[in-house]
Amino acid sequence: MPQRKRIAIIGAGAAGCFCAANIMEMSDECDITIFEAGAKPMHKLSLTGGGRCNITNSFSEVASLADVYPRGHRLLKGLFYVFDHDSACSWFDSHGIRLYTQDDNRVFPVSDDAFEVVNTLLGILRGHGVRIITNAKINGITRHDDGTFSLDGTAESFDRVVVTTGGIGNSQLMQSLGSLGHKIAEPVPSLFSLKVNDSDLTSLMGASVPMASVLINGTKLRAEGALLVTHFGFSGPAVLRLSSFAARTLAERNYNCDISINWTGRAEQSMRDELEALAKRYAARNILSAHPENLTNRLWAHLVGRAGIAHERTFAELGKKNMNKLLTVLLSDNYHVSGRGQYKEEFVTCGGVELGSVSNKTLESKAVPGLFFAGEVLDIDALTGGFNLQAAWTTAYTVASGIAQP
Ligand SMILES: Cc1cc2nc3c(=O)[nH]c(=O)nc-3n(C[C@H](O)[C@H](O)[C@H](O)COP(=O)(O)OP(=O)(O)OC[C@H]3O[C@@H](n4cnc5c(N)ncnc54)[C@H](O)[C@@H]3O)c2cc1C
Repeated sequence: MPQRKRIAIIGAGAAGCFCAANIMEMSDECDITIFEAGAKPMHKLSLTGGGRCNITNSFSEVASLADVYPRGHRLLKGLFYVFDHDSACSWFDSHGIRLYTQDDNRVFPVSDDAFEVVNTLLGILRGHGVRIITNAKINGITRHDDGTFSLDGTAESFDRVVVTTGGIGNSQLMQSLGSLGHKIAEPVPSLFSLKVNDSDLTSLMGASVPMASVLINGTKLRAEGALLVTHFGFSGPAVLRLSSFAARTLAERNYNCDISINWTGRAEQSMRDELEALAKRYAARNILSAHPENLTNRLWAHLVGRAGIAHERTFAELGKKNMNKLLTVLLSDNYHVSGRGQYKEEFVTCGGVELGSVSNKTLESKAVPGLFFAGEVLDIDALTGGFNLQAAWTTAYTVASGIAQP
């Protein structure tokens, strides 16, 4: 009779629990123990999507995975052939969780309740006799000459270990992984808003434009999308996207940099044409009486002021010089960023175990056979929209398949 595989999973988050559930459904020759540092399994999963759990995305508007996964898109492209968003939807559906897709392509449980996902996974784990040990933080992993593992602080030994400890955090475990031969990309936050100390700007709190472009000056790092002015500075999809693609650059600059905003997202000639048409049509009227498409009255007044144009002027009084100043402010309005803020409570980690340290087929460590990684502990992260959980499901399923093989 073959010996049962003893498997340790470190971290009872989305990836750890999904991995355990799949191993048990694929093989009846495994015993799994999950070690969780916190008091409850899947605490973060229960908070996702504002408590509704944005479980995945339909990907119907994703032309390339590189557009939504700044880190990890190449690896995920290969893994999606085996387990993608459709596979995830079918998996949850076949386990009793009905899903729906919002107009913005984000997928949620019909119950709009993240606890449905948590409790379903917990039910599967309990049904298969998976042990979950909470308040059990693991700080190190040792691999013995016979190929078995022991974990710092536990007396048992294991045949396979899966690390699913999520994003920014445990530096001791990361150090242990580093000394075992894995390269670690320094973890830094991704998905945040930008702090701008400018009371004129922040007094516009709540103002937004549907399509802006934000550039970090002196770089090619630019992102487009809706832009929101907050009490703190800038937020909204364009900024979140920029914070994700520029996560490392912004961390290196200690969140201090100059940005340039194109409030219209449009090219110079098209904007010039619109301004000239406005000036011609409303020549005798006050400059605040009409404004370019997609700008609000409040924002227009702010931008006119930033261009140094008195609010009393008429369009006819603008002249070429002021027209150029207005264009400059509309198309490349500069602000100094002096810090970062939060986007709701949501953030993910850029960095972690470098993807070159793992097999791109099984996510098994190249340095330590028998050791696997899934979820955000890997250097994979995405924009908001369900893409991060999808990465957790895909990588966890991949590891489960590798481990469950006879
Ligand atoms: C508030 C919030 C909302 C979010 N909403 C969404 C969303 O709606 N959709 C989406 O796609 N993504 C969302 N995300 C991102 C998503 O939650 C994560 O990408 C995902 O949870 C990663 O799964 P994981 O299992 O890798 O890590 P986690 O879910 O973070 O789980 C890791 C687990 O490991 C444990 N752990 C850590 N170190 C140790 C250790 N040394 N020993 C033992 N245990 C340890 C932790 O306590 C934790 O329970 C959200 C993130 C946040 C913060």
